Amino acid sequence: MSEKILAINAGSSSLKFKLYDMPEAKVLMSGQVDRIGSQTGEFSYAIAGSRSKSVAPMPDHMAAIQHVIDTLLSSHVIQSKNEISGVGHRVSHGGRYYSEPVLIDEDVKSKIKELSVLSPLHNPVNLMGIEAFEKLLPHAKEVAVFDTAFHHTIPAKAYMYALPYSYYKDHGIRRYGFHGPSHEYIAQKAQELFGAERTHRLISCHLGNGGSLTAIRDGKSINSSMGFTPLAGIVMGTRSGDIDPEIIPFIEEEFNMDSQDVRKMLNHDSGLLGISGISNDIRDLDKAAQTGNERAQLALDVYAHQIQQYIGAYTTDLEGLDTLVFTAGIGEHSALVRKMVCSRLRYLGVKIDEAKNQANEISIEAEDSRVKVAVIPTDEEIIIARDVMAVLD
Ligand code: ADP
Repeated sequence: MSEKILAINAGSSSLKFKLYDMPEAKVLMSGQVDRIGSQTGEFSYAIAGSRSKSVAPMPDHMAAIQHVIDTLLSSHVIQSKNEISGVGHRVSHGGRYYSEPVLIDEDVKSKIKELSVLSPLHNPVNLMGIEAFEKLLPHAKEVAVFDTAFHHTIPAKAYMYALPYSYYKDHGIRRYGFHGPSHEYIAQKAQELFGAERTHRLISCHLGNGGSLTAIRDGKSINSSMGFTPLAGIVMGTRSGDIDPEIIPFIEEEFNMDSQDVRKMLNHDSGLLGISGISNDIRDLDKAAQTGNERAQLALDVYAHQIQQYIGAYTTDLEGLDTLVFTAGIGEHSALVRKMVCSRLRYLGVKIDEAKNQANEISIEAEDSRVKVAVIPTDEEIIIARDVMAVLD
């Protein structure tokens, strides 16, 4: 029997959604609300390939969701709210509690709230989305799909931090890994496109505003660059990624900053923006570097270098490399970053065809490359919709 399932990705000022007819996975409507919290909220959506845009006051997530539901009804995508049987929410941190998607109840909500301390930018907003849907679509079953869940197969040797053991045992301080739905989609799609043999040892590079790399063996995550929180790993748009831990108390003492100030600096003022002083956007950095801006070039160089280092490390974890995939905003669109990253991976058998790279083709490796190199648009929402179906079944 077919079911209408909504996949939801709620950010601090945005909400992305896709309504699916499952199990065929037909997208009935997709869209995004931006600038939530302002009088000029932007709503864009597509129904059967036809796109529309509007501006309306969006004081909060509740208003944004109401707007989405009203549009579903007024455009006759659904005749009644009750047709939507399930809503899947992307939730940032599942901590030690969740390695699978779960049906949301009071206990799940309180655990998501408890875990907000580990993902302060995302878990509270995810919870807000869940509570808004509870009020507006009371008939629908709600499912939480955790960013961390796909990584539950990471072995202890890769998730342990070398701190006193009780921090791990009593407080769950360990590497978790994030962007689970994206890495899971990439693992499945690459296998579908290139076959199991060719994707036995795969590295997925999710390079967006946030970014993480995952080492995937036979479809399972065995290591991932984000850690206890989504701040760890590679340099990101405005996040620092890995730094020497001693820098934090040093800065607190030297500049009289408290942990809240430092957290803000590491999450919002660092990364590509922090190094360049210009922008967190690769397009701006590329333009500036071309006109001789040295700090923009430095930001690009640090970015590519860190990605190369993780690829080298994960090739060791995987004992070789069959396929390297680039995805998300930068991975899918920046031929420059892909070229910079791949330029020093020849020793691994990675060689790209620059014409194919410039054209953002699915396969961009040169004919004599030993490793397959692919550009695959990610689709976190389909993983969320499938997870909802699995839970409802
Ligand atoms: P988020 O993590 O917020 O979902 P995205 O995956 O959408 O982010 O990635 C956003 C980033 O992708 C932008 O900041 C920009 O650096 C990069 N990007 C988007 N489009 C392009 C493009 N055409 N060329 C190069 N980089 C791009």
